[in-house]
Amino acid sequence: MMADRYLAFANRPVGRFLTGRLGLPQPRPLLRHAEGQPAVIGPVLAGSAPGGRLAEAVVATLAGTPAAMLFEGDAADWPGLAARHGVMAARFLPGQSGRAGSAVFDATGIADPAGLDALYTFFHHCVREIAPDGRIVVLGAPPETCADADARIAQRALEGFTRSLGKEARRNIAVQLVRVAADADAAALDSTLRFFLSRRSAYVSGQVVHVAAPVVDLPEAAPRAHRGRRVLVTGAARGIGAAIAEAFAREGAKVVALDVPQAGADLLSLAQRLGGSRLALDITDPASDAVILEDAATHGGYDVVVHNAGITRDRTIARMSRAEWDQVMQVNLLAPLRITEALLGAGALGPNGRIVGVSSIAGIAGNLGQTNYAATKAGVIGMVDALAPRLAARGATINAVAPGFIETRMTAAIPFAIREAGRRMNAMGQGGLPEDVAETILWLAEPRSAGVNGNIVRVCGQSLLGA
Ligand code: NAD
Repeated sequence: MMADRYLAFANRPVGRFLTGRLGLPQPRPLLRHAEGQPAVIGPVLAGSAPGGRLAEAVVATLAGTPAAMLFEGDAADWPGLAARHGVMAARFLPGQSGRAGSAVFDATGIADPAGLDALYTFFHHCVREIAPDGRIVVLGAPPETCADADARIAQRALEGFTRSLGKEARRNIAVQLVRVAADADAAALDSTLRFFLSRRSAYVSGQVVHVAAPVVDLPEAAPRAHRGRRVLVTGAARGIGAAIAEAFAREGAKVVALDVPQAGADLLSLAQRLGGSRLALDITDPASDAVILEDAATHGGYDVVVHNAGITRDRTIARMSRAEWDQVMQVNLLAPLRITEALLGAGALGPNGRIVGVSSIAGIAGNLGQTNYAATKAGVIGMVDALAPRLAARGATINAVAPGFIETRMTAAIPFAIREAGRRMNAMGQGGLPEDVAETILWLAEPRSAGVNGNIVRVCGQSLLGA
């Protein structure tokens, strides 16, 4: 993997001085999750527009974490809710309370465009009071289910607000909009809120996520959410796939690591290290389905399937060979579709099961020389759209992550100038790490994320390229 030498340089005293004098970007390394860290970056500054319905869900999410709460305004009964849930709470006094670790603003009560004023009132005073590496979450309602046009317009406006706040908050602060269905309760929201208020979401910013009411009964929250779950990860021998396998194993899952036979040695050492098992298979070979199904049948199916294996064969369409087109189609799109159908047909996805695709920001924004790759990665988004209702009917979910620039062998092969642009042109000013993608997938795959279905979540530090 290519080291980000600029990031290292800009964080040495001489580098900080020179980059400052020259007006160059001054990214700071992101603070990521480490074992034993609190689930939520506290204290959490809470606010609400009048008529918001999620104040109790916010306080309930903080209960059971060490995070204290600061509150702004009287639109919700914050002291009463905090007392009921055993959360330490104090009124926020700008300049006196100290900085907050994160902020959550309940905007579900904004019912017309004039009501957007509540965003100004809260964030104008508070945004500077959030410490570096903090988090901001705006909670909204799904615009398409709003009662009238005014509410729909106002809720849609939240998207432009949060995406812009993500671009201007800087200091490694990540900002998201979470749209919560009217019938989704606090339990449906907590895995999502905790993820976005934690260090795990360090490279996820500017995202809009939908949380619906789960169609299954949620299991109790557990410290190791994936304990005992069987997780199939394709393309696991290296890069992002290896990080996904390691993250699931760390959380107690039984990992089945799949990769091509040529990667056999890496696959074996990974499976041994993680106490998991391995499947040395080329997923483009239709005969691989039978091997996967047999593994599933022998061990009681899979709870989670992560379609991570992917390749690039970059060339402009006029110069691209048919083989380059075909290989990318086969690995990135046709194989995941075929394997998913085989697993669903055989009933091999467990109850409250999860499928997670790996798309790319190239599939959203397009990229020069990547017509084949971007078609497949947009196709992964299509797979999520098409299958989400079918999986919901089985009590399962399908979502995808869309990584931006992640430091792997794939991106180390990009020519220098384009690689530097990819690294710097995002709100965090640096590339992500494979673990950033892995953490996002862990959240989507949590048993308590049953209301998170049909989402595409970019892990791109809010890339300035594309959406
Ligand atoms: P990588 O090349 O380091 O790893 C990909 C793995 O997939 C390899 O171990 C490879 O052997 C395996 N694989 C390839 N073809 C296979 C096949 N036919 N059967 C089984 N396994 C196969 O790539 P990475 O950077 O870790 O990317 C992982 C995923 O993330 C890919 O889907 C990629 O498109 C996507 N992605 C990566 C980035 C990035 O910046 N690195 C950005 C966006 C999306």
